Amino acid sequence: MSQTLTPAQLEQLKQRLLARRQELYAQMQQNRANLAPAENTAGSVSQDENARLANQTREVDTRLTALDAEELARIDRALEAMDAGDYGRCDECGCQIPFERLQIEPMTQHCVACKSAWEHKQGLARA
Ligand SMILES: [Zn+2]
Repeated sequence: MSQTLTPAQLEQLKQRLLARRQELYAQMQQNRANLAPAENTAGSVSQDENARLANQTREVDTRLTALDAEELARIDRALEAMDAGDYGRCDECGCQIPFERLQIEPMTQHCVACKSAWEHKQGLARA
């Protein structure tokens, strides 16, 4: 039998997930602010140059936002699993993921064994 998480451990991980979610939301808000048209800065930079820089920034921000959205989705999934009472189970083999691992990566969905097996497979696929 694998040991289950204690309520205190669950609470700790939940706080961690919520804090991370807050952080991501703040970051996304910041990114969105960056997407707004640039302020007119006095003189030195031409309109064209301004537009070019704005486009470049926009590209980077869009990519970051997509990554953030992905992480947010994983956090939400983890929080939902907590509510459902099956947080911390490995998606692959169904074992209880050790608390020590969840502390490092609270939104992981796989135990170390399954994850390294998967990574190994990916590595082989790429080779
Ligand atoms: Zn597993």
